[in-house]
Amino acid sequence: MIYTGGTIGMVRNPATGALEAFTADNLAANIPEMKYCSASIDMVAFDTPIDSSDITPEHWCRIVKIISDNYDNYDGFVILHGTDTMAYSASALSFMLEDVGKPVILTGSQLPVEVIRTDAKENLLTAIEIAAAKDAEGNPMVPEVCIYFHDKLLRGNRSSKVSANNLAAFASNNYPALAHSGTEITYHREFIRPYDPASKFTPHYDMDSSIIVLSLFPGLQRGAVEAAMKSDAIGGVIFRTFGSGNAPRNGWLVNCLSEAVKNGKTIVNISQCATGSVEMERYETGRQLLDAGIISGHDSTVEAALAKLMFLRGKGCSQAEIQRLMNTSIAGEITL
Ligand code: ASP
Repeated sequence: MIYTGGTIGMVRNPATGALEAFTADNLAANIPEMKYCSASIDMVAFDTPIDSSDITPEHWCRIVKIISDNYDNYDGFVILHGTDTMAYSASALSFMLEDVGKPVILTGSQLPVEVIRTDAKENLLTAIEIAAAKDAEGNPMVPEVCIYFHDKLLRGNRSSKVSANNLAAFASNNYPALAHSGTEITYHREFIRPYDPASKFTPHYDMDSSIIVLSLFPGLQRGAVEAAMKSDAIGGVIFRTFGSGNAPRNGWLVNCLSEAVKNGKTIVNISQCATGSVEMERYETGRQLLDAGIISGHDSTVEAALAKLMFLRGKGCSQAEIQRLMNTSIAGEITL
């Protein structure tokens, strides 16, 4: 179990009333049921547990290193993480832990562990059970990076945080849940990545953060887009477009994006809609983007598109290679 921080490990400061990160011991003390788990668990904690708003690619590398160093010694890994950026971390880890053959289950909670109605206990105990689960052949039931929350196991790179206060805080809008938990945990094996004994786990540590997310809206200003597209600090853009991947036909926008692509920037088109996929061929307002060299992000979440582009650019892939891999599902992140 890797404890990074978040509400799940926070307690209220009696003086200020604010939630503050406590220590890893706090968890064991507040979840005495952990001693009844059939799994034997070791815990590693970040030296300073963080609110997940403070997470950076450097923290992802730390998690990858912990998993890589301990890969052969454990059946599975549970990562306790704040909910705010959990979908970003799950997406990033799904690429950084290439061909992971063991469960890596992120979980957290909406309510601190000490609160009487806390969701921390159920989330944590079920995540542990899933991380330890084996099929009839003794292989891991879920050999991939997932988020377990409330009553669902979701593929990590298909998940988004959709509620700031519901206990069912995560959704996977474009891919079915991998498991549901009720009185029993029901695994939907047809949606889970199959275990492949021949695949070799390879950790990666290079993520290129020179990326922005640009969200279209009626009235977007030319000067703002031009400034971003001319900036050397930006190597890639996740472009959140309308509907099935459409943008206005005002001339300046497409010219500006096309120029940026010619100058080596990678632009990936994803939809602002919560469900469905980009299909740039469908309307003239989408086709112009295709003609400008913009790559389809298919039905990616924004978190997965961002993490994938950070990963591919971090690996030093050429433009052509990024284009090819963006059109390939490398960790189950898109539907083709
Ligand atoms: N702000 C917290 C975090 O993301 C919220 C949570 O854990 O639910 O770390």
